[in-house]
Amino acid sequence: MTKENCIFCQIVSGKLPAMHIYETPRVVAFLDVLPVQLGHALVVSKSHFDNLLDLPDDLFLEMSQVSRKVAKAFQQVLGAQGFNLVMNNYEVAGQTVFHTHIHVIPRYADDGMRIIPQEKKKYEGEGMAQMGRQLSEALVNLGGG
Ligand code: AMP
Ligand code: ZN
Repeated sequence: MTKENCIFCQIVSGKLPAMHIYETPRVVAFLDVLPVQLGHALVVSKSHFDNLLDLPDDLFLEMSQVSRKVAKAFQQVLGAQGFNLVMNNYEVAGQTVFHTHIHVIPRYADDGMRIIPQEKKKYEGEGMAQMGRQLSEALVNLGGG
């Protein structure tokens, strides 16, 4: 499944260039052209799915496996001391390319980056328990899928 106007479909098919670093039968990894850290890589399904909710489970697993492998290469090659996996889903969450992908970002002591901001929200009163119960019920109803 490909989409004519999708940048990542064009990279997968070779119509657009990218610095490819790894591939499996259904997944590719290439360097982000505007990295937040040098080495910042994108792990992308070869077929087009808009976001995580469209992605088949087994393909998500393959993308996770490739992401972990890329993270290990960051340790070996870049001397990364840590890494973040980031997946932006839908525009409000910062997704700009609507072909599902995992960002793998190498991290270093004192690199000054914060993926989760320091400013946190606070539950009031029974808010946390209520939210927990609602979500828990919804999750049970969603079943295995
Ligand atoms: P997101 O904002 O999560 O959708 O991430 C999309 C990412 O794709 C951004 O970090 C872009 O820098 C990156 N990107 C966009 N176009 C290209 C391209 N042609 N080659 C490599 N990375 C790209
Ligand atoms: Zn695509």
